[in-house]
Amino acid sequence: MKTLVKRSLIAVLSLEFAILLAGTLALSAQAPAPDSPAIEAKAHAMIAKLTLEQKIELLGGVDKMFTQPMPAIDLPRFKMSDASLGVRTWGPTTAYAGGVALAATWDTDFARELGESLGRDARARSVNFLLGPGVNIARSPLSGRNFEYLSEDPFLNAALVVPFIQGVQSQGVAATVKHFALNDQEFNRHNASADVDERTMREIYLPAFEAAVTKAHVDAVMDSYNLVNGVHATQNDFLNLKLLKGEWDFQGVLMSDWDATYDGVAAVNNGLDLEMPSPKFMNAKNLIPAVQNGQVNEATIDEHLLRIFRTELRHGFTDRPQFDPADSTYSIADRAVALKGALESITLLKNEGNLLPLDPAKMKSIAVIGPDAYPAVTGGGGSSEAHAFEPVSILTGIANLLGPNAHVFYSPGIPDSPDEKKAVADADVVVVSVGFDAKSEREGADRTFTLPPGQDALIEAVAAINPRTIVTLTGGGGMDTSRWLDKVPVLLHTWYPGQEGGTAVAQILFGQHDPEGRLPISFDRSWDENPSSKWYHGDSKDSTTLNTIGADGQPKDYTIEHIKYGDKLMVGYRYWTTTGKHPLFPFGFGLSYTTFKFSNLKVPANAGPGSTVTVNFDVTNTGSVAGAEVAQLYVSDPSAQVDRPERELKGFAKVRLDPGATQHVTINLDARAFSFWDEPAHKWVVDPGKFTIRVGDSSENTPLSADIDLH
Ligand code: BGC
Repeated sequence: MKTLVKRSLIAVLSLEFAILLAGTLALSAQAPAPDSPAIEAKAHAMIAKLTLEQKIELLGGVDKMFTQPMPAIDLPRFKMSDASLGVRTWGPTTAYAGGVALAATWDTDFARELGESLGRDARARSVNFLLGPGVNIARSPLSGRNFEYLSEDPFLNAALVVPFIQGVQSQGVAATVKHFALNDQEFNRHNASADVDERTMREIYLPAFEAAVTKAHVDAVMDSYNLVNGVHATQNDFLNLKLLKGEWDFQGVLMSDWDATYDGVAAVNNGLDLEMPSPKFMNAKNLIPAVQNGQVNEATIDEHLLRIFRTELRHGFTDRPQFDPADSTYSIADRAVALKGALESITLLKNEGNLLPLDPAKMKSIAVIGPDAYPAVTGGGGSSEAHAFEPVSILTGIANLLGPNAHVFYSPGIPDSPDEKKAVADADVVVVSVGFDAKSEREGADRTFTLPPGQDALIEAVAAINPRTIVTLTGGGGMDTSRWLDKVPVLLHTWYPGQEGGTAVAQILFGQHDPEGRLPISFDRSWDENPSSKWYHGDSKDSTTLNTIGADGQPKDYTIEHIKYGDKLMVGYRYWTTTGKHPLFPFGFGLSYTTFKFSNLKVPANAGPGSTVTVNFDVTNTGSVAGAEVAQLYVSDPSAQVDRPERELKGFAKVRLDPGATQHVTINLDARAFSFWDEPAHKWVVDPGKFTIRVGDSSENTPLSADIDLH
């Protein structure tokens, strides 16, 4: 059942081919992996043995994290667990640099490796369904769960989520892509309606879900808490029936988020297969009368069961123990993956005077200060919290690397005694580790753009006594650096680096590893300049009331806050490049200890609008140390008859190069790379004419460009 060959297969792929895969992540619908006729027949036979009451019982979860067992058909219960930063279920685990940190790696091979590791961790804990990955768009830095999601860009999200899901599912574990859809804020998440036009949904908010279904054949999808255009996701006909089960031909299980169901009949009739964590609404009390009076067809209930059984049978859950003794609970192999993710994702944003890399041999004393220096901050808070066995803090990582000869001074806050101020002023360098943590950035609440109280003052106080101050940030996105950025020479974003974060920070600071991370978000100066800021909170005058019946059978009213997505397609770098303004640090940006040159761009002069366009170019390491670069390809449609963002990411390639070495990169662009969603025609359309292909190392720095005429 288990296919553990993926990693070696990837290893034998030529880099060029792997790059080609990243660039050709076509999103056109493809048939899902067919289930064998035997599985379909068995699932139907199971359904045929059930009474209506038993069928309805199976539509709801049990004991918070399990599917319902059914002794009448020898069906045991199956276990679920969160999620993408580590398999959370009951007890310590390996905590990874997942979510936004995975996006900062821009590494599709690593996404698969991470998925495989999580799959192994799940099998070691008898978990059948992993409740991840989360792929909602990082529209605003305030959204409390950005750290669990990926990036601000639909193409990058889609490119990473496919191998991630394939990795999880290759281990005999069902992945669950979430939160479908438009759960882009945590504030008021049960009562917020994302009011969005279809083009914006199709071009920005849905492609990662679409790729998860049509390319990765994800086993499960989780509907979100919020409403979309006035209808809760769990009963949203457009999302669940028209798109997911219709156009994308999803064959797996559509489950609710935990207590995200608001109406049993509407949910059953609009695509929800499984109400989690318990059948508060999709239960016999609500559904038997509805079947009797014709509001719900029994065939609809059968269809939901078919999907649940089919998914369980496909993975063999009924035929073998999910616990796999070959997989370790405490896993040395997975610790290596955790370290790799941290090393690949940590992003260097400022390095004035090339203060970094530091020379460990010359380091006699170092001060490590701040709330995020110790203990280790591995992830944000909420259901994704993974408790690591022995997380390495930044303080510990630095001390371990330097060994006994260097003096390490630690303080969580502003050093105030004269002795401590001595220690800090005389240190060869000071590392100030600030940012968010599992309490200040978490599920169920949004966070501030400003750093938690006192942290700006801490950096200012330290920088005032020692100019060699290195600031490390922890958090799921951008944050306010305005009070002190010009006073410190080095800024390193560590995202949430998982349990090996401290080791990775130390290796990067001391030049044992080139900083490889590249921003998966545009890093704003202030919240006000973020393109969603005007639209992020609803206006109370637009609120509406939703009258429904609560789980207790009594009338229940919800006041719905309407979040009008007036920023439309202008999310992140799409806004910045279209307006010609500049954020503090652009999407795709990150410094390295070496330098790279892009050259020899080759784009055909013309092609048919539906054909695949092959783009070639070279990347050369022009510096003196080995390093990794992310070559990014953006497409512009200057002759478009509709408004389009100035440029959009449509391909990328992570290349690792020794000094002086050159890598030839090939990226294939399919029709979707040039298309927009035509609202009146209701389809993807390539507007014939001139397109510009740009290649570079960020959304703003694209030294290569060439035009192509599509007609
Ligand atoms: C979260 C989901 C999670 C579920 C189970 C909910 O609160 O929104 O993402 O999978 O809990 O823990």
